[in-house]
Amino acid sequence: MKKHTENEWWKNPHPECKPATNVISAGYDPAFSEMSAKLPIFPTSTFLFKSAEDGEHFFRIFAHPEERAQGEVPGLIYSRFNNPNMEIVEDKMVAMEPGAEAAAVLPSGMSAISTTIFALLSPGDSIIYSAPIYGGTEHLFDSVFSKFKIRAYPVFKPKIEEYAKMIEKHKDSLAMVFIETPSNPTIVHTDVEEIVKIVRRSAVGGKRILVAVDNTFMGPVFQSLFDVGIDLSIYSATKFIGGHSDLIGGFVLGKKSDIQAVKSYRSVLGATTDPFCCWLMSRSLETIEIRMIKTADNAQRIAAFLSTHPKVEKVIYPGLLKKNDPQYKIYKKQCSGPGALISFYVRGGKKEAFKVLDTVDICKLAVSLGGTESLIEHPRRMTHAEVPENVCQATGITDNLIRLSVGIEDSDDLIRDLDKALATIA
Ligand code: PLP
Repeated sequence: MKKHTENEWWKNPHPECKPATNVISAGYDPAFSEMSAKLPIFPTSTFLFKSAEDGEHFFRIFAHPEERAQGEVPGLIYSRFNNPNMEIVEDKMVAMEPGAEAAAVLPSGMSAISTTIFALLSPGDSIIYSAPIYGGTEHLFDSVFSKFKIRAYPVFKPKIEEYAKMIEKHKDSLAMVFIETPSNPTIVHTDVEEIVKIVRRSAVGGKRILVAVDNTFMGPVFQSLFDVGIDLSIYSATKFIGGHSDLIGGFVLGKKSDIQAVKSYRSVLGATTDPFCCWLMSRSLETIEIRMIKTADNAQRIAAFLSTHPKVEKVIYPGLLKKNDPQYKIYKKQCSGPGALISFYVRGGKKEAFKVLDTVDICKLAVSLGGTESLIEHPRRMTHAEVPENVCQATGITDNLIRLSVGIEDSDDLIRDLDKALATIA
């Protein structure tokens, strides 16, 4: 039987090739599957051992990864621990974000965030995070991790001085700076490179402070921040990675040792992603680049249309940023494209915003984002309904704000749909 080793071409994507090329074959060796050109699904809960000795060895190196021989890939044991579809989609994610050494797949974005924190932080540690942040993440920090004595502190303005002050204040207990950039739903960019510099200066005496980025909105196609020194890139794969609004998934990428720790916790917490979901994500990753480029192209046209519409007070979209806006510099430094998310304020309040949401029909009224179809929602009363009023006020999540995730439909049709809906505002 052919042995998996880390040296084979499908484990080591071609360094001279771009992610869009490497992702097609990364992780999958057809020789293991009857030379099937495309990846099969492995719907099995358990794996056969050729011998009792093999079984003993697989368990041993699973529990003690440090005992693995150079280049040895551990044999499969049980699908809660690992499964070929999990391994393959993880390799494909690394091919898409080559600054990372390894990836762990998780059954949702929330599970990616929570498992990472359980694995890498301890009671008494603190987290500093960018606000606003996805409502679920805020709830996780406030209501769950506080019970485990891990305290989280928001930074409301994307200003480096604010981060410097907070990092200085909490540096004795600080274990993670968690940045969602751009932020959900206000599409604010935070300068991660500057934060990494402050964090590295603050970590005295060998103390490790992790910098984690929620890269859901732009990554991996338009943003990857390993080159400025982040430790972890975290995703809701439910969004652009899955890309068709038909699955829930998540990823965390980073150094091998950190990802190994996340995988150990994943196994024991039972945060396993089923083989079919991994297969769907593997398939979707092959088209992520063309989908993200097309949706960004559509979004640029729609943002331009909205920005001149008389019933629209303000549009937030990276592709509309003016050169003299401090956000422009950060956007240009961190992102290679403007993405598919547009947030806009209509003239009026909740009544007017709801009218727009109830009138569109090509754009679908639903939360989530990053699918082939355009999705439209009301952050204040939907995704961010549980975010405290003072946070909403401080960050601009008001009743006249609408968030639009632009899909791959024809942009003229989408513009007509939005125009019709905006015409209902008196
Ligand atoms: N991070 C961001 C930026 C999100 O928008 C979401 C969900 O909307 C999550 C994390 C959580 O992801 P999931 O719903 O896959 O658990």
